[in-house]
Amino acid sequence: MELKPVIGLEIHCQLLTKTKLFCSCPTDYVGREPNTIVCPVCLGLPGSLPVLNKEALKLALRAALALNCTILKKTRFHRKNYFYPDLPKAYQISQYDIPLAVNGYLVIDGKRIRIRRVHMEEDAGKLVHPTKTGRLEGAEYSLVDFNRCGVPLIEIVTEPDISSPEEARNFVMELRSLVQHLGVSDGNMEEGSLRCDANISISVDGKFGTKTEIKNMNSFKAIERALAYEINRHMEVILSGGEVIQETRHWDDSKGITTSLRGKEEAHDYRYFPEPDLLPLFISDEMVSEISKTMPELPWDRRNRWKMDFGLGDYEVFVLSSSKVLGDFFDACVREIGKPKEVSNWIQVELLRIVDDLRLKIEDCYFAIPYLKEVLELLEKGVINNQVAKAVFEESIRERRAPIDIVKSKGLEQVSDEEALKDAVKRVLEENEDAVKSYLSGKDKAFNFLLGQVMKVTKGKANPAVVRKVLEEELKALS
Ligand code: ADP
Ligand code: ZN
Ligand code: MG
Repeated sequence: MELKPVIGLEIHCQLLTKTKLFCSCPTDYVGREPNTIVCPVCLGLPGSLPVLNKEALKLALRAALALNCTILKKTRFHRKNYFYPDLPKAYQISQYDIPLAVNGYLVIDGKRIRIRRVHMEEDAGKLVHPTKTGRLEGAEYSLVDFNRCGVPLIEIVTEPDISSPEEARNFVMELRSLVQHLGVSDGNMEEGSLRCDANISISVDGKFGTKTEIKNMNSFKAIERALAYEINRHMEVILSGGEVIQETRHWDDSKGITTSLRGKEEAHDYRYFPEPDLLPLFISDEMVSEISKTMPELPWDRRNRWKMDFGLGDYEVFVLSSSKVLGDFFDACVREIGKPKEVSNWIQVELLRIVDDLRLKIEDCYFAIPYLKEVLELLEKGVINNQVAKAVFEESIRERRAPIDIVKSKGLEQVSDEEALKDAVKRVLEENEDAVKSYLSGKDKAFNFLLGQVMKVTKGKANPAVVRKVLEEELKALS
């Protein structure tokens, strides 16, 4: 019996428009006082009429084209009816039988993942539940904030072409990078501007199985973990002769498990019908070609450019293109400094760690570009060694202080003078008789230990190549 995971994703992505999908309320609801950016349209008050936001349509088309979709010339909106407290109209304006675009694909690691459809819809509001510390502390009720109602979304639905949790994660990473490069969405998963639901089933000897849908995964790690958990759960059910129940499940990130949320809804549960307040939408060839002509550089073009022009490897370009701000930062560094190979390495190994430690954002690190330039120059001229360079770079960012100042004021210049290092070497040899004996009896490993001791005695400032040479000479003299 051959068991294989089968995965299809549904991804919601908030569009970067100034105003909502069908009214002129602003969309920047993060941090706003609840219920302050609402109007009769997005509250669904009787008699109000929706008007489609052209900018949202353009962004949606841009995403659909970048996903290699066919744009449908005539499309329309439906009402999707359901009652939920964060949906004041009791229906969502969405697209149903005729979406904006169909039949696209996105390439992940050389494999085409087919896109079934891309459609437009409006977001719902938010419920604010009591928490242990929040402003509803101890309350026995929840509140509702309608600020997010009517914010434009696109939903991207894949075919069940994904075959592992890792591939699913990579798909969402690539999609996020794509919408960022397109300027279509900020792709912020923590703030919910990009949300992913995953459908998963196990095929047995090539035959599709029953699927479950997982909701509430709000990080790449969560997508991977939730799918791995759910695959295991399905496998256990199947191997023990049971049957998987079709349902919607909730990912609990802290417990690391999925739990049943509700039975699966069917389309007829929503009583879809065409939105009578909006006309069908005709997409002209001119509009499509205008958008195609103004496509920015896409992540895969960018990666190719870095490979061809800079000679970077697959893994490097993958990391650097994982978010648009990181790619932009890298390009800016290379414009200022040159040396793409070294710059890529320093960004990935040092800067990303420092940014994480200091809780900075990459987009706020442009001030560090001259620092990186200086550190690389100091290294090249042999003024400091590699070890010191890393520490100085970190300190320069933390203190916003030029690397050369730090080096001078702390006396961190590399010591390459053989005579000066000879004293340190001799002292280390005297203080570590055991290691010396062990080296002389043929244990080469002791050499690195002694070298490390010399570096320590010289506070990391010694030129390792010179230390190596002096140490070799001194040990030879002892043998
Ligand atoms: P439903 O009609 O049950 O909503 P759809 O066919 O509309 O299902 O598909 C919804 C999502 O589920 C799509 O992303 C699709 O790729 C995925 N999907 C469909 N069938 C399966 C399956 N057997 N296993 C995993 N995912 C699936
Ligand atoms: Zn409004
Ligand atoms: Mg469906």
